Amino acid sequence: MSALHDLTARDAAARVRRREVSATELTRAALSRITAVEPQVGAILTICEREALAAAEIIDRRVAAGEDPGLLAGVPVGLKDNICTAGIRTTASSRILEAFVPPYDATVAARLQQAGAVLVGKLNCDEFAMGSSTENAALGVTRNPWDPERVAGGSSGGSAAAVAAREVHASLGSDTGGSIRLPASFCGVVGMKPTYGRVSRYGVIAFASSLDQVGPLARDVGDAALVLQAIAGHDPADGTSSQRPVPSYVAALEGGVRGLRLGLPREYFVEGMQPDVEASVRAAVRTLEAQGATVEPVSLPHTEYAIATYYLITSAEASSNLARYDGVRYGLRAAGGGTLAEMYERSRAAGFGPEVKRRIMLGTYALSAGYYDAYYLKAQQVRTLIRRDFEQAFAHVDALIAPVAPSTAFRLGERVDDPLTMYLSDILTISLNLAGLPGISLPCGLDAAGLPIGLQLIGKAFDEATLLRIAAAYEAASDWTARSPIP
Ligand code: GLN
Repeated sequence: MSALHDLTARDAAARVRRREVSATELTRAALSRITAVEPQVGAILTICEREALAAAEIIDRRVAAGEDPGLLAGVPVGLKDNICTAGIRTTASSRILEAFVPPYDATVAARLQQAGAVLVGKLNCDEFAMGSSTENAALGVTRNPWDPERVAGGSSGGSAAAVAAREVHASLGSDTGGSIRLPASFCGVVGMKPTYGRVSRYGVIAFASSLDQVGPLARDVGDAALVLQAIAGHDPADGTSSQRPVPSYVAALEGGVRGLRLGLPREYFVEGMQPDVEASVRAAVRTLEAQGATVEPVSLPHTEYAIATYYLITSAEASSNLARYDGVRYGLRAAGGGTLAEMYERSRAAGFGPEVKRRIMLGTYALSAGYYDAYYLKAQQVRTLIRRDFEQAFAHVDALIAPVAPSTAFRLGERVDDPLTMYLSDILTISLNLAGLPGISLPCGLDAAGLPIGLQLIGKAFDEATLLRIAAAYEAASDWTARSPIP
């Protein structure tokens, strides 16, 4: 039998339910895997050993009592550290929240727990989820498990690296402009950004509220479906969460792609793309055609405006969301400073890192009187055009197929001093957030340096099931998923 930490989440849960393995054994296996590999990965900010073992014991007691402890019974998982957990430090990788212990659970954290999952760690990310490499992280960088000199991607780098390194069986990340899909692609795991409103944002530390969405990172498509199943659905505590019923994502995996129409967006094969990324994605397209899908070119003509639009809207929303960190109610309060204004200033100057400050200033500027119409309003208008591009494409096709990023994982330090180049990493992921649509990233190859390449599928609103179905068909016809870079 393979090591316990190698099991997929669904296999692990099935074994717990059949009493072949206990939740406590799985949790201990995850904790010892963490001890063994964490020094070379740096994915975890807080290891919840005591809480995890206590939670596992409860699951084991429930199994012994003949109860069904849920879809993810006894499965060790991790959460991006912008997801609030009652009694467990939640930092958003920021100095300003370094010592913050939330008094309540985010809905997604509570739902995973209700499904029987065992939280073993809070995972590193870019500060307030602003970044593409997990280098804008105040409490330490995460390394790519495939190559310690490379970034894990971001902003949910810890969530992707922990799954790739088999420290946890699955995790949650958040995706405002690519932050689940990009690290999933760089680390060779599956990551899904659900439709805006499919998953509750209650208790998730806000970056840009009109785009933020939580989703799973997993070792394969089946596990991603299972985790999404556990977290999706209406939440009365989040006014933007949808009332639509949640279909069976697990059942969707069986459908195959025969008869499905896929669109290949012309604008997503950008100049300067790494040739082996393009070659792998085109090979994946042929694999899906061989399975019975038809593929046709489509156009998303406003793609070139997506980055500018995204940075205006997200920075505007961030400047407003981050106004709450004032040193008064919670979070860091800097010493000294005679007046209230000085206290705010010192606390925010000491608490926020450079990228967060850059965005607060950009956002404040874009929202200020006299500039609002030229920047924020204009960006909202372009956002509508971007959404319409997708609507027009989806009049002809069931899903879109594209790369996740123009390159594989870049080197640590390579882009950190050049924000514009860093922003370009998201060129193929952010449009879909502006349109509110779902997307999935799954492994489709390795480049010449042996680094994972990601395939992206983009779907119609609330059609996660079709994306999972295509992804499962591709996964079954290829063998890129479920490889682990660290034996
Ligand atoms: N890299 C993008 C940014 O820096 C996306 C971040 C995200 O999706 N949270 O904003």
